[in-house]
Amino acid sequence: MTDLPVSARNQLADSSPLLSANLETRMDSPDGACKLLLRYPDGASTEAVGMPGTQGQTFCISTQVGCPVKCKFCASGSEGLERNLTQAEILEQVLWLRNEMGDFHRLVVMGMGDAGFNLTPTLNALECLLDPAGMDLGARRVTLSTVAPKNAITTLANWPHNINVALSLHAIQDELRHELIPGLSKRTIEETLGEMEQLFAKNGREYTIEYVLLSGVNDSTQAAHELADLLRDKRCHINLIPYNPVAGLGFARPTDSTCGIFLNILKTQSLSATLRRSMGSSADAACGQLRRHTKIV
Ligand code: SF4
Repeated sequence: MTDLPVSARNQLADSSPLLSANLETRMDSPDGACKLLLRYPDGASTEAVGMPGTQGQTFCISTQVGCPVKCKFCASGSEGLERNLTQAEILEQVLWLRNEMGDFHRLVVMGMGDAGFNLTPTLNALECLLDPAGMDLGARRVTLSTVAPKNAITTLANWPHNINVALSLHAIQDELRHELIPGLSKRTIEETLGEMEQLFAKNGREYTIEYVLLSGVNDSTQAAHELADLLRDKRCHINLIPYNPVAGLGFARPTDSTCGIFLNILKTQSLSATLRRSMGSSADAACGQLRRHTKIV
């Protein structure tokens, strides 16, 4: 606002900061990933990550401080939910990342927390980013990931913007899924996949199934065949995520060979599947490694 005197601009900057959080720590990983620890005025903190990619950078933002879902293998959920982030707090993570790293190509809502448990502020924040008067971000460049609590997928199906949706599945049997994702009330895989198919029927966009590969838990060849059977007639792409180890949680990453065999079983049965390349692990910025405390030294 250069039409205002410098003194007025300085006064405004002091009294009305545009961003509520302070950047407490920036951690850079040798692979180019960067993690920001943001501290809000009430002392709560969360993390946002930027990663380089072939088409440009991907930003990954958080929706909650901690996470109510408490996935057994995840650092973010290990201490439960502290609080939801507001629309503004979700939105400003993108601004912080852009200030620190420059422009971005893709936005994934896959950081700390589960967007499905804080959906209204999350969608309102995305609305600002998608708006032509905001960042004019194309809906195809946005992916929201959730374990799909009750009503979340229906809400997304009725939302006017056709963003990409990823379902965090992680197991083929309901019992194992409930064991790995204890914060999810007893919803069955069948009803959840039914909702995902309805989402596809509504927006015509293939969804993603996220499946974190945990050594000795869900990475057997039998599990691969069962996953193929479960998803054979579904309109989805399967994203296999080799586990990023978190100290003290008791899970291990499968070997590269095990991951490759699992992927090949899906592919030879004509399923669309890929193995996610892990980035940021040396800065604890990889999937499932985000925390609300500064345990990143
Ligand atoms: S994996 Fe996602 S949903 Fe599960 S506890 Fe971690 S942040 Fe929450």
